[in-house]
Amino acid sequence: MTKVWVLGAGQLGAMLQQAAYPLALDVHPLAPEDETLPEISAADIVTVEREQWPDTALTRHLSSQPGFINAAIFGRIADRLYQKTMLDELEINTAPWLPVTASSHAEALHAEIGEDILLKRRTGGYDGKGQFWLYQDQGDEIPSDWLDAAIAEQKIPFEEELSLVGARDADGNKVFYPLTLNLHSNGILMASVAPLERVKHLQSQAEAMLGKIMDSANYIGVMAMECFRVKDKLIVNELAPRVHNSGHWTQAGACVSQFEMHLRAVSGLPIKAPEVRGQSVMINLIGVARNIDWLNIPSSQCYWYGKDVRPGRKVGHININHPNKKAVQTALVKLRPLLPENYGAVFDWVQDELAKI
Ligand code: ATP
Ligand code: MG
Repeated sequence: MTKVWVLGAGQLGAMLQQAAYPLALDVHPLAPEDETLPEISAADIVTVEREQWPDTALTRHLSSQPGFINAAIFGRIADRLYQKTMLDELEINTAPWLPVTASSHAEALHAEIGEDILLKRRTGGYDGKGQFWLYQDQGDEIPSDWLDAAIAEQKIPFEEELSLVGARDADGNKVFYPLTLNLHSNGILMASVAPLERVKHLQSQAEAMLGKIMDSANYIGVMAMECFRVKDKLIVNELAPRVHNSGHWTQAGACVSQFEMHLRAVSGLPIKAPEVRGQSVMINLIGVARNIDWLNIPSSQCYWYGKDVRPGRKVGHININHPNKKAVQTALVKLRPLLPENYGAVFDWVQDELAKI
């Protein structure tokens, strides 16, 4: 069996492992802190399920392997400064930005990019962590520990957030899932809906953008592109060179999930355009205790990550999928009382979107 080592042992690694079974691939997620170094042969594949990793004996061991895929690109994408520079070089729309240097001042940033500015730490941010808003009318200053460690981005008055998950193989073949509509709250993904007829006209624009990015990096595997939609224009928010939370619905809603697609691409197996089945909705479980009644919701799959529950922490997700939209709406009505009250706005948003279809 071909061995695939995964740098990172969170839920994404676990779901890659789950997807590997029908491909007869032997997937081993590894936590960066693991002290035992596995014996890796030249024929083995090494991939990642996280963008950032600490410098440990294990991460050095994995990233020095000949089978380490996309080695050249990870450093560039993990640092927002390089990622944004790369997007500018490729002439791909992205929120106007400036580097935050040691001598940056809020006033100068406002003069160049606008009244409302989002500072984002160059590395290490996720789920809205590593963000700081600078509002000119409040006279905010750049906190000193953000100097030389962040980029400043113009606030985009977007209508909605869409993401595209695609994959590329070593021969340059590319496949894409349909655009996914995402709802974030405080920087955390709460829910996704796909496919959506009303954004179909943006699909080719999105594919051209992500295709160009993957080709330019000679990228192999799944990559996700998070976008803002302003009228009919897509603006890239950020890239994730890995399987992505907004692609979790593909576990239920596509003939090949993003996890299987990634494994196919990195291990040289055929990738094929994923046929999408029915209507999918994904609800993230954020900081909620496990409720076994979720397992009774019709037309759904429940993924529980087995992590300690903490406020704001992603601890699982629920995919709802059915050929008939009405069945998805019914499942949501049943799920709603099984989640905390703060999910009310999430359910309203999803139900509104489904009603428009
Ligand atoms: P992830 O968990 O996806 O890695 P993150 O915390 O790294 O996210 P971003 O995706 O850059 O950070 O931002 C999180 C959310 O903050 C976005 O999905 C969006 O809702 C909001 N946001 C980010 N950048 C901007 C911007 N320039 N203008 C307006 N809102 C923004
Ligand atoms: Mg994001």
